Amino acid sequence: MNADIRYSIVIPVYNEEAVINQTYQRLKQVMDLTGDSYELIFVNDGSCDHTAAMIKNYRDQDDAVKLITFSRNFGHQIAITAGMDYALGAAVVVIDADLQDPPELILDMIAKWKEGFDVVYAKRTKRKGETFFKKLTARLFYRILSASTDLDIPTDTGDFRLLDRRVCEELKRLPEKNRYVRGLVSWVGFRQTALEYERDERLAGETKYPLKKMIKLSMDGITSFSYKPIKLATYAGSVIITSGLTYLAVMLLLKVFAKSVIAGWNLVMAMQLVLTGLVLTMMGIIGEYIGRIYDEARDRPLYIVSECCGMMKKERKVKRVV
Ligand code: UDP
Ligand code: MG
Repeated sequence: MNADIRYSIVIPVYNEEAVINQTYQRLKQVMDLTGDSYELIFVNDGSCDHTAAMIKNYRDQDDAVKLITFSRNFGHQIAITAGMDYALGAAVVVIDADLQDPPELILDMIAKWKEGFDVVYAKRTKRKGETFFKKLTARLFYRILSASTDLDIPTDTGDFRLLDRRVCEELKRLPEKNRYVRGLVSWVGFRQTALEYERDERLAGETKYPLKKMIKLSMDGITSFSYKPIKLATYAGSVIITSGLTYLAVMLLLKVFAKSVIAGWNLVMAMQLVLTGLVLTMMGIIGEYIGRIYDEARDRPLYIVSECCGMMKKERKVKRVV
């Protein structure tokens, strides 16, 4: 095994045949400029197009190319985790396959790393070619996340970043299943710095992050790093009980002293709806946490590798502290 690799580039790919050629070429051009040894680890997250076959073709001519293929689609966050598990480099860079993250920025990240930073993350100052809805929800999500946790998780920052080997080793020790990797990187600590960039449009193909996956990612982010949503249930509950009691008291007083007739069925109806809605929302939030506890308790492996090219298949060994 090649133990002296300096840079590992981890690229999660899910049905990226439309763009993968350009991604490979551009990454190669950039990494050749470093003059150091590197590996390009493509993590094929259960693609059902020609992505894997194309990567195998590159590998035939280029030893730096490595491929991990999952037995099915396990999701972007799990794909980058697998890439980090297999990476051998002294520095590990995670980058999307669709060239929204400019590979050229890797050189600036490396320069920062050489200055002594352990994590260099790329912060988006602009997002081009994305829908208004995506930009708005992303903006909102990052604000809600940072307001709900004490941990300093950078806003408007994706997974495009460089990690020093020691940060990577620490991340490998974290067993959780519903992973929000950028939050975990903040949690691990060490010397971190940001580089700003303008996020380009996806070069080709469509987004592989439909609304459903975005909701899952944001739920993972918030529930992994904050108990505030669950605490909200307690606050809301006490406010509702107080207002309910006041309401009752006012009605009683009106009946006793003003002898008024309470004809408020529509008000009762409205109250009923509001309360049921609230109770259901809170149950949902509690359910999110319980679901995650269940995931951790089952302790299934994070992913299943069906094929490895250019590297040995291995188990993800995490020692659980009970
Ligand atoms: N991706 C993945 N598994 C998935 C969804 C996405 O490996 O289930 C990869 C995808 O191929 C890309 C990266 O994750 O390299 C980011 O996805 P995408 O660009 O579609 O997300 P967006 O930029 O639209 O948020
Ligand atoms: Mg993208």
